[in-house]
Amino acid sequence: MIVAMHGQATEENIQQVIERMVELGFNVHRTTGAAQTILAGVGTPEHFEVAEFKVLSGVYDAYRISSPYKLAGRNFRPEGTTVTFPNGVVVGGKEVVIMAGPCSVESREQILTSAKQVAAAGGRFLRGGAFKPRSSPYSFQGMGLDGLKLLREVSDETGLLVITEVMEISQIELMLPYIDCFQVGARNMQNFNLLRELGHVRKPVLMKRGISATIEEVLLSAEYILSGGNYNLMLCERGIRTYETYTRNTMDISAIPVLKKLTHLPVLGDPSHGVGIRDLVPPMALASVAAGADGLLMEMHPNPDKAMSDGAQSLYPEQLQKLMEQLRLLAPVVNRTIA
Ligand code: PEP
Ligand code: MN
Repeated sequence: MIVAMHGQATEENIQQVIERMVELGFNVHRTTGAAQTILAGVGTPEHFEVAEFKVLSGVYDAYRISSPYKLAGRNFRPEGTTVTFPNGVVVGGKEVVIMAGPCSVESREQILTSAKQVAAAGGRFLRGGAFKPRSSPYSFQGMGLDGLKLLREVSDETGLLVITEVMEISQIELMLPYIDCFQVGARNMQNFNLLRELGHVRKPVLMKRGISATIEEVLLSAEYILSGGNYNLMLCERGIRTYETYTRNTMDISAIPVLKKLTHLPVLGDPSHGVGIRDLVPPMALASVAAGADGLLMEMHPNPDKAMSDGAQSLYPEQLQKLMEQLRLLAPVVNRTIA
């Protein structure tokens, strides 16, 4: 940590800051300049908040220079993390992995048709919510356990893996037999108790960026899961809230290369929630892959006009097919492959 003192700071102010730094466990190196005194704190005390120093008397500014996320940081595994699934699919390797399906599981017929269409297009995972976090309590809340059973059944039939959202701790055990990957939704990215519990299982987790989360907050949330020992973790950009209202969210494509630089974890893009408008999904999917995404999570519905949730952003099956062809042309440009 670096603490820059004001030009007018008194010797008493400076000593007070030094004492607090020493108390926390820093080794303090003082540089007394003509205009300003700089205090460099070396060491990594377990608990300290840079904000505490910013408001001490005589302090001009204080900065943290070490990363607050130790396990999520790129340095921890410079070669990158790969997450391997039971059928041999690897996320974080050369292949860009496609996960697609409806927003929600609605019926046996709907999810079976979706699975066949996703498999035919070259998808590896079937997505579909069984437990749905809806903005309104009056909207469709998902099929629950019946939805999980249907997901498993139709995925086994079509050779796909299952990814679906977990909303609370009590659902973890219930879901384990039916799924291949837990999805932590944007609304739960800072549900720290849930994250901590997901650190104790070994089943892979895909954690989405919160609707107003900074990249540092994403990485600190990842740290909760990693610190429990679950390294089978993937991150996903899904759009953030900005002042723009034309799109549902603003798909922050730049977050993809930024995260790839800061962390060893695989990074995916979810252009469906990123823009909320079906015809804008293909260009944002292509942009995500061009920006370095290790995979895509996308909504597709056999009949989006009748979907019980997120129909407006769900691709028609033909759109998914066409997008996959475009992705296959693009992938080699960024030295990737696609199924
Ligand atoms: C979803 O994937 O359907 C979903 C609810 O996503 P998010 O958490 O990104 O809103
Ligand atoms: Mn959705």
